[in-house]
Amino acid sequence: MGTPISELGEFRLIDRITSPFPKFHNETIRGIGDDAAVLKLNSENYTIITTDVLVEGIHFNLVYTPLKHLGYKAVAVNLSDIAAMNGTPKYITVSIALSAKFSVEAIEQLYSGILAACEKYHVELIGGDTSSSMTGLMISITAIGEVLPQKVTYRSSAKVGDLICVSGDLGAAYLGLQLLEREYKLFKDTPEIQPDFSTKEYLLERQLKPEPRFDILKTLNDAGICPHAMIDISDGLSSEINHICTKSNVGAKIYAHKIPIDTVTSITAEEFNMAPETAALHGGEDYELLFTVNADHLNKLLTIPSISIIGMITEAHEGIKLILQGGNEVDLSTKGWDAFLS
Ligand SMILES: [Mg+2]
Repeated sequence: MGTPISELGEFRLIDRITSPFPKFHNETIRGIGDDAAVLKLNSENYTIITTDVLVEGIHFNLVYTPLKHLGYKAVAVNLSDIAAMNGTPKYITVSIALSAKFSVEAIEQLYSGILAACEKYHVELIGGDTSSSMTGLMISITAIGEVLPQKVTYRSSAKVGDLICVSGDLGAAYLGLQLLEREYKLFKDTPEIQPDFSTKEYLLERQLKPEPRFDILKTLNDAGICPHAMIDISDGLSSEINHICTKSNVGAKIYAHKIPIDTVTSITAEEFNMAPETAALHGGEDYELLFTVNADHLNKLLTIPSISIIGMITEAHEGIKLILQGGNEVDLSTKGWDAFLS
């Protein structure tokens, strides 16, 4: 018997299977290991390339995910990786594998969502492939964008003393998923009961229709701020700050009470007997931007309402710490996500 993949985890598995691959071309500025690859093909810009795959039953459940939303989200999460490199998206390719249960109309629904995202973010669909599948639906999207070399934001560029900032608010997408799962289970047991999502629309929208934060890139650019390191929050704040600190060889202090959490998120977390901070730290799928900025920009940052300063970058030996209200410290580099479970 071989090693179970779960023993290694996704990130170590990727390291293991990709590490033997040689680098042949000088145009490769960054290969695997960031939100996207960065190439210098011929223009003054760097080219950014990123791919994601979404599998039915693993990444989405079609019982409560409308196909149009799925198409939109599949594009949005790829564009979010372009945003994480401080880039501008230009093109996508879309490949799908689908089983016989899908009609032409169903696929048109999926592509209407892909189209809506292309129109909103001015991205061209330039290729792809379709195949049949034994079971269910699989979507693989590759996004291509560009960035000026002096503006690219790697995970590895955080500096000691930087402010750690996050856009928007966190934890809502995770609670949206919990709500959908709960109502789905209720529905399976008692189909005559209709789900009631009133007052929770924000959480569903965050789960079903995430938006890449190009508006934040513009706000920062207009303010004359270029982040040092940046990543998008797909797996939760705790995981993403670990990526930045590991790649940059730095530590971090994050203040729990500074983490931006919407009121509906807080109320719903309590209903699920969960600390709202747990959803923010470990939930993921918010697709907000986590970035580090030179502390000289503090006053400018304080005037931008959609950005929260949640901590600072420290020396590597200080570790990755979550500071709780009252001053206690929790190590975020290990099981920080359950810091609020008592
Ligand atoms: Mg990413």
